[in-house]
Amino acid sequence: MNLILQQMTENKISEEEIREVFDKAAQFLPGTKYVVCKLDDELDFSGHYQKQGYNYAVMFYFPLDENVWDGYTEERMATLQTRCFPNATRLGVYAQKLCDEAGIPFYRPPIGKDHMTPPYITPLSVKAVGTKGGAGWIGKSDLLITFEYGPKITTLGALFYADNFTVGTPVTDNSCGNCHRCADACPWHNIYGNSWHEGVTRDDLVDYHGCSVSRYLASNNDSVDIPDVGKKVACCRCMMACPVGIRNILAVINSQNQEM
Ligand code: SF4
Ligand code: SF4
Repeated sequence: MNLILQQMTENKISEEEIREVFDKAAQFLPGTKYVVCKLDDELDFSGHYQKQGYNYAVMFYFPLDENVWDGYTEERMATLQTRCFPNATRLGVYAQKLCDEAGIPFYRPPIGKDHMTPPYITPLSVKAVGTKGGAGWIGKSDLLITFEYGPKITTLGALFYADNFTVGTPVTDNSCGNCHRCADACPWHNIYGNSWHEGVTRDDLVDYHGCSVSRYLASNNDSVDIPDVGKKVACCRCMMACPVGIRNILAVINSQNQEM
């Protein structure tokens, strides 16, 4: 048996040791949190990663670092995303380094970069890790609405191996109530207004193709091009409209401003 498979069969690294590493990684960016769930066939539909020995998935998430919802413009959103996405990459590189040093098998699946061609799926659905790990629910907007920061977050998804690890409590129903703000905010009516619960799919909630293509076509402004993702996430009006978590995000932003 090669070394990696042997390590991923039983490596006697305790949950406490792994949490220590994840907690340290989470200190990299203000307000960062993480949740963990079992890697199952729903997340890893081809079994590819499970065959490699990974058995848990983790989602790190941190809040937007600027209030762009007051005085929103696509340009401001694009500037923010251009800053936040590389932060997620940097966090991932740091977490990888810490895990490597501690001997924890850890892998970051690639993220999707083609947002114009169906079926728009990535090797690991970080949103699904978020709901299964207990971070939040899927909103009417099809965004992950975290209890802490709502949808105004950047995420990092990864896989790891542990002999045993305590996972979060899965979220199986939404807490949107009668709110409809995200659907009302979409200029292209891509959000149907349906409520999510376990089993409801993306296609029940939004016109995903319409979202990607509408955003692209509507943005003939090159200043909203975001490296690696083009104009895809320069809209986010649905994200900006969601009231969940705003107070917590502002608290993180304010604490950062005070430290500077
Ligand atoms: S990102 Fe923009 S186009 Fe897409 S669903 Fe949200 S508001 Fe609508
Ligand atoms: S804006 Fe309202 S309906 Fe939309 S995801 Fe947020 S809480 Fe749910």
